Amino acid sequence: MDIRIDNQLFEKMKLNLIEQFKIYRFLIKKLRRQLFRQQKAKERDENLRLEEIQRQNDPLYQAWIIHQENIRRQKEIEEEEENQKAQKLRKQHEQMEIQKKEQLRKEMEEKQKELSLSKITAPTHNPFPPIQVTIAPSIERPVCSFYLKTGVCRYNERCHRTHNKPDITNTLLAVNMYSNFEMQYGLDDEYDFDIGLEFEESERYENFKDFYYDVLPEFERFGHVIIFKVCANSEIHLRGNVYIQYETDYQAMQAYKALNTRYYAGRMVQCQFVNIPSWSAAICGKHTDGLFEHGKCPKGRRCNYLHVFRNPPLKSIEKNKDESSRKNKRSKSRDRSNKRKKKSRH
Ligand SMILES: [Zn+2]
Ligand SMILES: [Zn+2]
Repeated sequence: MDIRIDNQLFEKMKLNLIEQFKIYRFLIKKLRRQLFRQQKAKERDENLRLEEIQRQNDPLYQAWIIHQENIRRQKEIEEEEENQKAQKLRKQHEQMEIQKKEQLRKEMEEKQKELSLSKITAPTHNPFPPIQVTIAPSIERPVCSFYLKTGVCRYNERCHRTHNKPDITNTLLAVNMYSNFEMQYGLDDEYDFDIGLEFEESERYENFKDFYYDVLPEFERFGHVIIFKVCANSEIHLRGNVYIQYETDYQAMQAYKALNTRYYAGRMVQCQFVNIPSWSAAICGKHTDGLFEHGKCPKGRRCNYLHVFRNPPLKSIEKNKDESSRKNKRSKSRDRSNKRKKKSRH
């Protein structure tokens, strides 16, 4: 009984041992595989390390690295340049904005000045406060020499040079105020030949004298006129221009207020303040102050400097005024429409 039991027990133990042995073998194999993999990984790493060292020492690899570095630097430079460009553009834009604002501000100031000019009715100072005439040249554009000398320029606002408009001066310019037969019908384009000749020199001068004796007293109402010049030029920006220089700015301003936009001989009188630093510089040097000697100036009446009429003697103004008033009285009863010159308020 005991032996049988021992046999069974033995069998059990045997099976148990076999089982344990199998497990042991499995574990051993697993461990070996693990070790093998670790070994392989080590070898691979070592190989990679060696390869890397080899590559580092390879001149081709070195060249490639340098090339890559160069590309990176180039990119950096390009980016920097682009940044600078953008910054420059931004600055330019800002500058333009500032200039625009400045221009707007100036325009506003000018408008306000005009407004205040029309509002002034009586002087608050005696004499009138001097107003600075700005002749400072612009930074960008050179000063227009014609405008500087004559107060006008054939290109007007389109001129590429700077026109420094004065505020208030003692000199008024009545633009295109004088006109005669030739000027009115553009006969002076023919330049002194044929039709021009039909308009006699003396007739021309008589016409001017009428104008002179008629208009000068009008301007004298506001103060003593030092200089009174009438242009005979053909060029439209000078044609029939009348320059009136007073002793003071205040007198000129009073005349401006009273006469600007009034009508004379059916045309609106357009006055502006001008600054004529030197009359001898404004008046054409080649044009003699004689009756009508355009021939002396090679440019004729197309000259850009003033070709002025010779003013008749001052003392005869009173005499002429009396004459014209007598004439007027006589002719008043006659046909009124024959009168060429007519003054009326606008
Ligand atoms: Zn100009
Ligand atoms: Zn000339």
